[in-house]
Amino acid sequence: MALVNEHFLKLPNNYLFADIAKKVNAFKVTHPKADVISLGIGDVTQPLAPAVVEAMHKAADEMGTQQGFRGYGPEQGYDFLREAILKNDFLPRGIHLDIDEIFVNDGAKSDTGNIQELIRWDNSIGVTDPIYPVYIDSNVMIGRAGTVEDGKWSNVIYMPCNAENGFVPQIPERRVDVIYLCYPNNPTGMVITREELRKWVNYALHNDTLIFYDAAYQAYIQDDSIPHSIYEIRGARKCAIEFHSYSKTAGFTGIRCGYTIVPKDLTAATLTGERIPLNPLWYRRQCTKFNGTSYISQRAAEAIYTPEGKEQIRTTIQYYMNNAKRMITTLRSLGFECYGGENAPYIWMRTPDGSSSWQFFENLLYGANVVCTPGVGFGPAGEGYVRFTAFGSHEKTDEALGRIAAWSKGL
Ligand SMILES: *Cc1c(COP(=O)(O)O)cnc(C)c1O
Repeated sequence: MALVNEHFLKLPNNYLFADIAKKVNAFKVTHPKADVISLGIGDVTQPLAPAVVEAMHKAADEMGTQQGFRGYGPEQGYDFLREAILKNDFLPRGIHLDIDEIFVNDGAKSDTGNIQELIRWDNSIGVTDPIYPVYIDSNVMIGRAGTVEDGKWSNVIYMPCNAENGFVPQIPERRVDVIYLCYPNNPTGMVITREELRKWVNYALHNDTLIFYDAAYQAYIQDDSIPHSIYEIRGARKCAIEFHSYSKTAGFTGIRCGYTIVPKDLTAATLTGERIPLNPLWYRRQCTKFNGTSYISQRAAEAIYTPEGKEQIRTTIQYYMNNAKRMITTLRSLGFECYGGENAPYIWMRTPDGSSSWQFFENLLYGANVVCTPGVGFGPAGEGYVRFTAFGSHEKTDEALGRIAAWSKGL
């Protein structure tokens, strides 16, 4: 008899976005004429940059020739892409990395979910709350999160981020082995200042804590004083692994490519106190369980670092950030309390009159035919908030805002 991994049974049955889809479908069945606009799910909508498309065509043609054909590539990625990453994403910020510290992947979800394989099952885990659900769920699956009570896992330390503390997580009072940070943040759309990030790096260095830093939205930062990488902070090479993704940067949600930085200075301890470097461990893990990202995807990613590619993806990011700006302005003018949206494509809004996240979600769906994401789906501190994304088209975004305005005035 094969025994199931019972930790999977502890997971909440439904994925948040499946719950939302079910409620939206129920609405559509009873209101077949309604035209529902989604400002809910975090997927992009604008087409790929022409430079990216051209690079993929070229790579596909190469693969169709005897000389240009490529089979399995290096598990950690082709050097042409790793060199472009070093030269464009890190050197201009004064960060010197070794090429072997870069691991190209098929997107940040896989690596943010898999990275916890490098640490023992009994480490303590700290997360900001609300949070991208992958960090916790991947720890639940392996049995590290404990049991769930009132929406909280018993072995997870939650650091609430809300309007009252300005969405700045407070350093925990007890030491934590591993902390997940994500900035710019999904779902709150808020950023971390250099000074605040320095506090976390110093905390990690003093407490021998490992930081998993998700920088998936760094390309959306508009304010030059906000760090794009944790390695801009001195000492971070000794305590942090960083995740990047081309999904939001360049519309690669369907192409699949990103990368993870595992510095060679980074170590974790054995029970007897021996220090083990994590870079060779991750390399070993990837060689066993991952066979590389497709050549075509990696050429596509390389193309966003060309002068044309850079300009084209910048234009699309500005397009989304224009949506964010109009959303904040309109929602605030209607009297809603909004956060984020200045350096990230998300707007985090407090629900009016103390209604719950799901209550407001339904009211908005039935009243304005607009879909948002209930904040409580991202963690207990998300209760009483909803998330709007700026990833829609200008037209749909403006139409949704118009409907919200008409609806909220009639409330
Ligand atoms: C979208 C997103 C990612 C990226 O996922 P991919 O697998 O690269 O598409 C990573 N982290 C967060 C917080 C995200 O919202």
